[in-house]
Amino acid sequence: MTNTTVTEHTIDSAAITDTDSTDTDSTAAVETPEAPDRPGRIAVYAAQAPKAPLERTTVPRRALGPHDILIDVRYAGICHSDIHQVDEDWGPGIFPMVPGHEIAGVVTAVGSAVSLRSVGDRVGVGCFVDSCRECDNCRAGLQQYCTGGTGIVLTYNGRGRDGSPTYGGYAKQLVVDEQYALRIPDALPLDVAAPLLCAGITVYSPLSHWGAGPGRKVAVVGLGGLGHLGVRIARAKGAEVTVLSQSLRKREDGLRLGAHDYRATSDPATFAELAGRFDIVLNTVSADLDLSAYLGLLRTDGTLVQLGAPAKPVSLGAHSLLIGRRSLSGSMIGSLAETQEMLDFCAEHGIGAEIELIPAEGINEAYRRVLASDVHYRFVIDTATI
Ligand code: NAP
Ligand code: ZN
Ligand code: ZN
Repeated sequence: MTNTTVTEHTIDSAAITDTDSTDTDSTAAVETPEAPDRPGRIAVYAAQAPKAPLERTTVPRRALGPHDILIDVRYAGICHSDIHQVDEDWGPGIFPMVPGHEIAGVVTAVGSAVSLRSVGDRVGVGCFVDSCRECDNCRAGLQQYCTGGTGIVLTYNGRGRDGSPTYGGYAKQLVVDEQYALRIPDALPLDVAAPLLCAGITVYSPLSHWGAGPGRKVAVVGLGGLGHLGVRIARAKGAEVTVLSQSLRKREDGLRLGAHDYRATSDPATFAELAGRFDIVLNTVSADLDLSAYLGLLRTDGTLVQLGAPAKPVSLGAHSLLIGRRSLSGSMIGSLAETQEMLDFCAEHGIGAEIELIPAEGINEAYRRVLASDVHYRFVIDTATI
């Protein structure tokens, strides 16, 4: 684990009284730490338009409701999904957009009916901040697949129950319903814990669902944010782990993170030598790949789990599924309970993200580097610099 020092920040009153805003509601109350029960404004980094660079501004924050907690955000991871959404790879976005769904911080105020969290608690927020709570999936504790109403409320680039836009974790503060914040165990420093809230759970959930463990062979395609945590978690679960990367450039890192083997997908011999080998292949690649080649790496009844969410459709040849009764599946983040389970598992096994801690003004450069696959292995924003 790197950067294991947790620095405690105090609320920056100069930042939170900033009135430099794109929001036209001049009546919005100015944020003060003493008045969380009133609406306020929060200093953030936002993109004002699709593909625009991120810049400092303020956005509205709702008054603390009875079940809400106010979080002093300390760290926010940069997920490749943030870039997909700012770039509108998945469809029209809501702007200004404040990305960030890998959020770690400390509770600074609680609503009148809050019972699960207290002031001073170390908490994390992931990709969603609400769900219908009534559909079959919500009742079964699979909130990430909520089918009620308009489904889950995304942490940003979404709309809450009242229709107002949600803003994410590239921010000094966040207000969230207590049920949608997870407890970060004391053993996990907040900076290396932040990426677990999306990247960590996104690999943990399929590894659990498809039974990664002793005697099972797992391949992780792409050694980026998701991929490096996939290696660490699959190894901790007892599986035999192979990284499939575009080149051997990061081989030493991959082996240090826990991989038993590391192969380059640019070498055709890789696909011949590893044919029929794996029980589970996790595809974390952010671009479209020819999945047929990767399905060929599965043994009989093996599963390729699509985690990457590229803008373009993925393609495959039918025979790659027919032969060996192979499966192609997908998986999206994880439930609240499973995210808590993952955080506890990571604390127990000493697993955090390997991070590059950056100031907020470095976000745009970090985006460029993520797009160039130059990430080692998650950028995390020190939100004290917003
Ligand atoms: P990332 O840090 O950029 O890692 C992606 C890795 O894919 C890169 O490091 C690179 O690894 C490999 N790669 C990139 N471009 C490639 C190309 N053209 N051909 C082959 N390999 C390529 O991204 P991330 O944050 O881990 O996210 C990965 C994807 O998962 C994104 O599409 C993101 O939106 C999606 N995602 C999905 C979920 C979900 O719930 N399913 C959750 C979070 C993120 P190498 O250099 O090792 O080849
Ligand atoms: Zn994400
Ligand atoms: Zn639901």
